[in-house]
Amino acid sequence: MQTHPTIKDGWFREISETSFPGQAFCLKVKRILHSEKSEFQDILVFESESYGNVLVLDGIVQCTERDEFAYQELISHIPLFSHPNPKRILVIGGGDGGVLREVVKHGDTIESVTLVEIDETVIKLSKKYLPNMAKGFDHEKVKVVLDDGFKFLKKVAQENNGKYDIIITDSSDPEGPAEAFFRKNYFELMYNALNDDGIVITQASENCWLNVDKLKDLKKICKQVFPIVEYGYVTIPSYTSGQLGLMCCSKKLQITEPIRKLSTAEESKLFKYYNSEIHKASFIHPTWAKKLIDGN
Ligand code: SAM
Repeated sequence: MQTHPTIKDGWFREISETSFPGQAFCLKVKRILHSEKSEFQDILVFESESYGNVLVLDGIVQCTERDEFAYQELISHIPLFSHPNPKRILVIGGGDGGVLREVVKHGDTIESVTLVEIDETVIKLSKKYLPNMAKGFDHEKVKVVLDDGFKFLKKVAQENNGKYDIIITDSSDPEGPAEAFFRKNYFELMYNALNDDGIVITQASENCWLNVDKLKDLKKICKQVFPIVEYGYVTIPSYTSGQLGLMCCSKKLQITEPIRKLSTAEESKLFKYYNSEIHKASFIHPTWAKKLIDGN
């Protein structure tokens, strides 16, 4: 029988003394579907008892079939509905395909979606074990580039072949191949790759229940590069502490309210988590958290 170091007594345990000191998230495992070390990271896919199939990279849960929609919808639709006419979209990371699935819901306004993923194995395994997310890869407007997202953006700066309206960084956490995505020069590269009214959103790895100092540092870095920076969050049980932060940066458009809105009926046909009210609510914080994030 296959085993994996993160699984003990039939339970997957997400333990990280640096990211989640003193706490752990566990899921009961039905069976391991795949386990390997790719060129870039340790990859585990297992079937859980209550969250469907689960993708784990370097010991950290990336998505589960049961609750992935919350994250994928919010990280995609906050920037897309904050922009009047998003045409060229860049996704960095996102190898499970869930963000692509959401972006193409914007139909004719979208001209192209480029996804830059470092690890082809994640894409292949997602197509096999996470088909409801990976269906995003099938859309005709989607182009996949196998490359390091940081290096790709450096090339974009050199080649000057068109800018993006929106950049979504759907990366893994800073420990591993996504480390560069939490540094100032990454945000500078994104700034330069955007049109004048461009918007960036990036998974912040932290939230106010975990490492607030890292969150504050990230916000500070973003503010050194972008005039508009807002911190939002998604509630999602399979990320340790049930919340994940989203750092949103914009050159001139405000991002805390949608500029385009669908009818309630259309929203409920297309989305399970996103609606125009949750868009606004995602930027409203409890008093204690607001003080921590704003540094008061
Ligand atoms: N929703 C997830 C989360 O926040 O936990 C992220 C999921 S997605 C699967 C993360 C992807 O980022 C992975 O497929 C990983 O291979 C990719 N990635 C990590 N570092 C990267 C890099 N330097 N360039 C491009 N993709 C990268």
